[in-house]
Amino acid sequence: MARVLLIEDDRELAKVLLGLLSRAGFEARLAENGVRGLVALREDPPDLVVLDLGLPDLAGDEILARLRATSDLPVLVLTATRDLERKVRLLREGADDYLEKPFHPEELLARIEALLRRRAAGKRMAVGPLVLDLEAGRARLGEAEVALSPRELAIAALLARRPGRVYGKEEIAEAVWGEDAPRSNALEVHLAKLRAKLAEIGAEGYLRTVRGRGYALLEPRE
Ligand code: CA
Repeated sequence: MARVLLIEDDRELAKVLLGLLSRAGFEARLAENGVRGLVALREDPPDLVVLDLGLPDLAGDEILARLRATSDLPVLVLTATRDLERKVRLLREGADDYLEKPFHPEELLARIEALLRRRAAGKRMAVGPLVLDLEAGRARLGEAEVALSPRELAIAALLARRPGRVYGKEEIAEAVWGEDAPRSNALEVHLAKLRAKLAEIGAEGYLRTVRGRGYALLEPRE
């Protein structure tokens, strides 16, 4: 059951939305101001946030900025504004979608479901028939499956983002470790393990080494 946190100070609206969400099978919670919203986000993160921009204590923009500093949780913003620039800015600052008040509650429901579907699809990546399940941490080819370590998964997911593109070692190391990329041969070790695991499920041909340039993941041609 997906969990939705509603940050909204309008009690009448909140009541309607909470009822609608729970009837639709969501576990919905309410934070009636920004501070409580931030506490709820930190202590018990939901699967999706519906955020009213006009709150009595903190601006919704501020909450969005703080949330985005640490999380990529889907956020749907409720706004009273018809100001196009502000909406564009919100989307740039990390809102996934917005709805202008007044809106039809059923539309909110449809948008929440669409966001969660998109998010669920993002947890699975595919290079031809080779599937990476990012949530379960597994690679799958046909019936064969193998568990990947978080580093192996991060490397595979990076390469799978654009199948066939060659990623240099530094680029991979930065994506996997960030600025603390080790200078040792740790990356080669993880790549070798990833290669061995792909071989276990018959996908050894997917990980290519392009001499002097880097690595790519692509579907091998017969
Ligand atoms: Ca409000």
